[in-house]
Amino acid sequence: MRLIDGKKIAADIRVSLRHEISQLVGRKPHLALVIVGDHPASLSYIRGKKNACLEIGLLSSVIELPTEIAEKSLLEKIDELNKNPLIDGILVQMPLPKHIREYKVTAAIAPEKDVDGFHPLNIGKLLLGEEGGFIPCTPKGIFVLLQTMQIPVQGKHVVIVGRSNIVGKPLAALLVQKKTGCNATVTLAHSQSAHLEKLTRSADILVAAMGSPLFIRQEMIKPGSAIIDVGINRTKEGKLVGDVDFEHVAPLAEWITPVPGGVGPMTIAMLMQNTLEGYKKTLKRPS
Ligand code: NDP
Repeated sequence: MRLIDGKKIAADIRVSLRHEISQLVGRKPHLALVIVGDHPASLSYIRGKKNACLEIGLLSSVIELPTEIAEKSLLEKIDELNKNPLIDGILVQMPLPKHIREYKVTAAIAPEKDVDGFHPLNIGKLLLGEEGGFIPCTPKGIFVLLQTMQIPVQGKHVVIVGRSNIVGKPLAALLVQKKTGCNATVTLAHSQSAHLEKLTRSADILVAAMGSPLFIRQEMIKPGSAIIDVGINRTKEGKLVGDVDFEHVAPLAEWITPVPGGVGPMTIAMLMQNTLEGYKKTLKRPS
């Protein structure tokens, strides 16, 4: 079994980003982090992203807005950031309060500053296999992990359990592309999939993105396969665990990501990479 050390791979990416950013002449890339309300998990995610910016030399601004803010006022704030030439990337921390429509918010962010890659135009570009859009951070991070570990993807059966718009669907769209490092046969499973175990056992690469602690057991995997655990779950004891029963699955797998230290750090590293890309796009735009 080979451990996929996402923490180390992400740290290496951050080092090279820091180097690239230190070479930039003039202003540095600037990421706007918008948070609505004071949910502890969201605050902690924002802190993590802000610290990552600091570490690699990116500028960041945290815009804290009250839970009861009207959708219209949030959209106006986003528009202000869209028009600000000194802001290269905009991230709105999800989830949002119930009275705000997430779709409206993601669609309001200028596509060229949409570093999360959730804008319909960026999702559309990904689906069409067009270059130049932003790829959502978690799927992109998984792709980089597979490439770095030289895990064969072409012609392989990738089974993704979880069809969310932020992980499962964009990852399926990415790995199925007719491009080097992709060309996979992808099955996208979910809570209504029949014979889930039969599907997961046929996976050369199994991606668990359910948010269901330790759901993937030893008998659900194909021996010698690659296991990518996206899940982040906190047990009653406060321990972080993934969607995969690591202890029993790891001895059978050829490659496996740990939780924590697998996909999570890659998501943040890809956010930093996307922000640098956003900066390059901003510079190319006529003012
Ligand atoms: P969502 O809740 O949006 O989606 C979960 C998906 O899993 C749904 O498609 C759901 O099916 C499916 N699912 C749930 N239970 C089962 C089951 N028993 N059998 C089959 N399918 C099931 O979650 P997210 O995609 O937002 O997140 C998934 C997990 O990944 C969470 O733990 C989250 O914290 C973590 N995460 C980690 C990131 C990282 O950087 N490491 C980034 C983003 C998320 P259905 O659609 O039918 O309801």
